[in-house]
Amino acid sequence: MSEATLRAETAAATPESPPLRFRGAAAALSAADQRQLFDRALSIDDAVRRRTAEIVARVRTQGDRGLVILARELDGVTLDALEVPRSTVRAALDRLTPALRRALERSASNIASVHRAFLPQVSETSPEPGIVVGRRPDPLQRVGVYAPGGRAAYPSSVLMGAVPARVAGVGEVILCTPPGAEGLPNVTLLAAAALAGVDRVFAVGGAGAIAAMAFGTESIPRVDRIVGPGNAYVAEAKLQLAGVVGIDAPAGPSELLVIADATSDPTLVARELLAQAEHDPLACVVAIVVGEDVARAVECEIASQLPSAARREIIEAALRGQGAVLSVVTLEEAVELANRYAPEHLLLALPSVERCSKLARALRNVGTIFVGESSSNAFGDYMTGANHVLPTLGLARSYSGLSVLDFVRWTTYQRISPEAARALAADVAVFGDAEGLPGHAKAARAWNGISPSRSLPSSASAAPVRREIADLPLYTEAADDDTDCAPNDPADLLDLSDNTNLWGAPPAAMAVLHDSSHAVSRYPSPYSAGLKSALARYVGWKDAGIVTGCGSDDVLDAAMRALAERGDAIAFQSPTFSMIPVFARVNGLRPVAIPFRDESCDIDAEKLVDSGARLIYVCAPNNPTATPVSRAALEYVIERAPGVVIIDEAYAEFAADTNVDLAAKHPSVLVTRTLSKAFGLAGLRVGYGVGDPALTGAVERARGPYKVTAAGERAALAALAEGPAGLGWVREHARVAIEARDDLIASLRELGVPSLPSAANFVLVPHPRADEIGRRLRASGIVVRVLTDLPWAPASLARGEGKALRIGVGPSAAMTRFLTAFAEALR
Ligand code: PMP
Repeated sequence: MSEATLRAETAAATPESPPLRFRGAAAALSAADQRQLFDRALSIDDAVRRRTAEIVARVRTQGDRGLVILARELDGVTLDALEVPRSTVRAALDRLTPALRRALERSASNIASVHRAFLPQVSETSPEPGIVVGRRPDPLQRVGVYAPGGRAAYPSSVLMGAVPARVAGVGEVILCTPPGAEGLPNVTLLAAAALAGVDRVFAVGGAGAIAAMAFGTESIPRVDRIVGPGNAYVAEAKLQLAGVVGIDAPAGPSELLVIADATSDPTLVARELLAQAEHDPLACVVAIVVGEDVARAVECEIASQLPSAARREIIEAALRGQGAVLSVVTLEEAVELANRYAPEHLLLALPSVERCSKLARALRNVGTIFVGESSSNAFGDYMTGANHVLPTLGLARSYSGLSVLDFVRWTTYQRISPEAARALAADVAVFGDAEGLPGHAKAARAWNGISPSRSLPSSASAAPVRREIADLPLYTEAADDDTDCAPNDPADLLDLSDNTNLWGAPPAAMAVLHDSSHAVSRYPSPYSAGLKSALARYVGWKDAGIVTGCGSDDVLDAAMRALAERGDAIAFQSPTFSMIPVFARVNGLRPVAIPFRDESCDIDAEKLVDSGARLIYVCAPNNPTATPVSRAALEYVIERAPGVVIIDEAYAEFAADTNVDLAAKHPSVLVTRTLSKAFGLAGLRVGYGVGDPALTGAVERARGPYKVTAAGERAALAALAEGPAGLGWVREHARVAIEARDDLIASLRELGVPSLPSAANFVLVPHPRADEIGRRLRASGIVVRVLTDLPWAPASLARGEGKALRIGVGPSAAMTRFLTAFAEALR
């Protein structure tokens, strides 16, 4: 006999039945019983509705005077002032027993910590190149928390309303709660208000308080949102004022549904049900139990615990009203019933946490789930930090519990670059015309045809060009940017804009280029077989796992064709290499930009994976931020990604580590590299990919033959050969570039314009005047990359208000010239 059966039989030894409204097999419930059990709704009678409307009207017209009269009529107190002095609120703290104060402080601290972890984030996305749409959570300016007085004066409710509001950044938090006989609210509520950081407390209760906060009176300021439970008049007032002020979900009596089976402890199940029932004679407590005998054991336990319960009458009333112990045959059936019931609280009272976690995943309509028998509802009511203000009345089908989201509102913003405006103009004009709004069409068309030299003909042109291609802006180099005062002599130009090797190219590569004995009248090898072997030696790989291309651009472009289907998504950190969304569109993929996780500018590994994108692209170190990507985040992504992860290591030689070894461990990883940066061969266009031969082979098929020129292959082979004029030169100059970079970072910090941390041969300096500074530098013959379309998060980027300068590192003379001009341009 199992221990559980033994428990059940022991319990069955007390045959008395508790006063339950519903019992027996769930499947046998009559239609009327099902309606009463499942269709719970807030029923407000007409008298409450009329009386509430009168109170609301009086407060609206009479303000403070109306509230004082109401306090005399309803609470029997004469109020001299509505506001409780701050000193009284603070002094309430000293009247708490040390034990209660400790418990309240612990609760407030856990609520703050949990709600801080769930703060909403800024996010941005780019549905097409040049269009950025962002969403920003803005805290509400003023929030009112209502807390009932009398028997239901719960300090925990004050903490649950006020602490999350504070965490969300609400400007001012006020509390309204009814006065007691002496004209002051309950002292424990005042203490909780002090702990939660409430700004002002008013001794005003009921529907009048809700109206006062909604309209504002002489003493009570008008708020943007009201939260917190209350009696029927409070609930009705919120509904009547929902058009005037934001409100939380309508609150009904508290609810608990427990799921149990033969492994559960009937004593524990009964204890939880009784604890919930003691809230309110209208509380709803339900146990759904697998097995009739176990259900009987739970009933017996309820019967045996009832006589000694302190609030026996309330509990009995609740059990008689909506109490249920119902048996089912399987746990799946229990979950189905629970989803139909949509309870405020649900306890999975099974000892196996694994089984509970599995069941929890199948539960949809629940305010909060307590997973496992030791997860008592009581802990959630007070101490875990989760919010206990939760949807009742079956509204867990559509509402969520109170959270920081209740205290912010979203502002979206949209930036459309001039190139994107041109690309959108024709389609938007068609819309405007079709909707009979010619002004819209005109506003859109105004952008068509501005500086056409910078973009391909738009979709409005008659040429039979595929839409994604026709609308794409062309890549522009920083040195090409319009300028009024560029110096005439190009030799004078210091171009720090393209992250190339400013020390030049390896002498061995230059020597082969100067040797005119090489024939150029014949094709090179179609897939650069010799170069692949040299590259394989350089990265410690096998020849078969290398693919070359016309720059790593070409490898990335071909990889998107080879490794995803048209219509698939490709996710990447944002901002990143600007060609990624462009190549994505060219290849029919959907670009999904994922903002950085936090201040470190590391990738948001979870969001990249959760995007479900078929391809994930990670630039490490990243362009344009130069920031490194953590190994842990990369591994997280690789282990969970549904498809291939492309790691772009264009700047690997300047970083502390490389990730080629990840390709050895995971056949789903493709690392791309280039000879355009540390190898100094940007003009020859040589790039490569490293990965499982299945991947590189596919990319090779997608890229076509003869992508590396004969000259490119020869120079690359010379640069990759060991010796001081080849690989030795490359390694030495990467070292020198790292030193120059660290010097530049230090100098920028001294100038008071810090860059982001860099693991590459360039640095990014966020600055709100980046465009103007870029123009001034240009006027003195220095070109840097000016970026004006960056996201505002994290804070290090927000400093630049979406703008930044990207500066390449070079020999010390170049850096000195740059720093002198930069200091001048900053002034
Ligand atoms: N990836 C990144 C991150 C880059 O910054 C660049 C060029 N700036 C490339 C790839 C492409 O380089 P290439 O085509 O010259 O190899």
